[in-house]
Amino acid sequence: MNKRRRVYEGKAKVLYEGPEPGTLIQHFKDDATAFNNKKHALIEGKGVLNNRICEYIFLRLGEIGVPTHFLRSLNMREQLIREVEIIPLEVVVRNVAAGSLAQRLGLEEGKPLPRQIVEFYYKNDELGDPMVTEEHITAFGWATPQEIDEILALALRINDFLVGLFLGIGIRLVDFKIEFGREWDNEQMRIVLADEISPDCCRLWDIATSDKLDKDRFRRDMGGVLEAYQEVARRLGVLAGSPRPRGSGPVLVSSKPN
Ligand code: UDP
Repeated sequence: MNKRRRVYEGKAKVLYEGPEPGTLIQHFKDDATAFNNKKHALIEGKGVLNNRICEYIFLRLGEIGVPTHFLRSLNMREQLIREVEIIPLEVVVRNVAAGSLAQRLGLEEGKPLPRQIVEFYYKNDELGDPMVTEEHITAFGWATPQEIDEILALALRINDFLVGLFLGIGIRLVDFKIEFGREWDNEQMRIVLADEISPDCCRLWDIATSDKLDKDRFRRDMGGVLEAYQEVARRLGVLAGSPRPRGSGPVLVSSKPN
């Protein structure tokens, strides 16, 4: 096999040069990290599940007109994506109090927020991704006011869609983190959803039992990380080897315990 050029290696993914100019191969690893890399483990099979879940979500978002970097699936762990200029912001959308928000403002975890809240964090591992405001973003030139408006509008649309998608399979979308990039087409630029959406960067709680089906199981040493990700994939109908044909859509799950 030809040795591919590695363009970037992150905590959970590797980017390789793609087959055509302007494309990259996004490879999902089994590595799990938390607390700015202080905690690390290998969770065998996680990369395969995240690849499948992310592919499914990006395709569905593309169908409702959300521009994304996703081009096509390549294999169990890899997808072909368009090369974009990543905007150095982590955009967090929240529906329910949890994690850092609950801690910072002394809110009870699980309390629905009065409305959806969007937060920005500056992507910088050395600084531990500090929270920033639109003032910082425009003053330091990370994004223009117009780009921020577009990012906010896309983030809210993505949230509305995902809340409904997960609700339909008995899952509460508590919060999630997304990233955006600039895609250039000659002189034209558009903002597209980049990176990934998977249980690594979402809080997903089972509606009936409140079980956590996301990376908090790893952060909080709860065990059953792979099983939780498998459950999300199974309900979305994308688990390879599941009795339902792959890609046949979400499985409706009753929100009330039997
Ligand atoms: N998140 C993420 N990467 C980060 C920080 C947060 O994917 O570097 C996700 C996290 O999984 C959660 C949401 O963003 O779904 C909000 O996270 P929070 O700010 O509560 O931080 P945490 O409690 O994870 O430190």
